[in-house]
Amino acid sequence: VAKNLGGNRFSRFTQDLQEAAETRLRMMRDLRNALAANQLEVYYQPIVEIATGKIYKAEALLRWKHPELGMVSPMQFIPLAEESRLIHDINDWVFHEATRELASWRKQLVPEFQISVNVSPVELRQNREKVGAHWIRHLQALGLPGKSLAIEITESILLNAESNVTDKLHLFRDAGIEVSIDDFGTGYSSLSYLKKFDIDYLKVDQSFVHNLVDGTDDKVLCEAIIVMAHKLGLKVIAEGVETQAQLDLLTAYGCDYAQGWLYSKAVTAPDFFALLLKNVKL
Ligand code: C2E
Ligand code: MG
Ligand code: MG
Ligand code: MG
Repeated sequence: VAKNLGGNRFSRFTQDLQEAAETRLRMMRDLRNALAANQLEVYYQPIVEIATGKIYKAEALLRWKHPELGMVSPMQFIPLAEESRLIHDINDWVFHEATRELASWRKQLVPEFQISVNVSPVELRQNREKVGAHWIRHLQALGLPGKSLAIEITESILLNAESNVTDKLHLFRDAGIEVSIDDFGTGYSSLSYLKKFDIDYLKVDQSFVHNLVDGTDDKVLCEAIIVMAHKLGLKVIAEGVETQAQLDLLTAYGCDYAQGWLYSKAVTAPDFFALLLKNVKL
């Protein structure tokens, strides 16, 4: 009996594994078609200046509406795209979409508005024109200054930055494009790269913000990150701010910007325009 049970459990386990592998394969295959089939859409989430309550910029966040699987999270499909060359096309597409909206928002509502785009490490490591000189030319063609764009990169990419990465960052910096460290505090956190690279923003990972009200350690860490960042001349964005209590603490610690459901989830471009319009009138 025991053996039988074990056997059943084992086949259940292999069945689950097989299903997971099949879903993966299917998503990989469907993703190839997603761009052409208009299933991808860029959503925008406001990043708010805490002191004024003004929307300071927007982060572009990718969404995939799969015809059968429904909304697939970027946490699921970005890694798949990164395993193939698809990530290049996807990243480039997000940039073009986001800058098109940005140009229109700046023209109609907020002349100094900025957009923040996530750039995959895979992309930065490549020696390609596209995410680089091509982006800079595209900004110029739209009449957008470099400062209207920020790129979000993860700290791990800066740890042992290869020359391709360093070259690209310098290219961006020279064009006035700003650099944010995303998910700060979750990587290897060797802080030395903060001296070595010209960084503009630290985005405190939402895992710190999540337990802010109850956790003593997270209070200490958040405050310390903010103090350190300011001494280094960096601005701090808190991610995943969901409650007023979290915002109050972040405000007390002198945090500069907040992003999270307390203000708004990521929304479509027209919905974001409406948010911005309301905010401008504040
Ligand atoms: P991220 O860059 O750290 O983006 C922040 C994530 O936190 C987003 O998840 C956002 O929707 C979510 N979030 C924002 N506010 C709150 C909140 O108050 N509470 C909670 N629980 N979550 C909040 P999302 O949109 O699912 O994106 C996940 C990750 O996928 C992003 O993390 C980013 O690393 C990646 N990603 C998204 N779009 C792109 C893209 O266009 N290119 C690349 N390379 N990566 C992308
Ligand atoms: Mg990000
Ligand atoms: Mg983040
Ligand atoms: Mg994150």
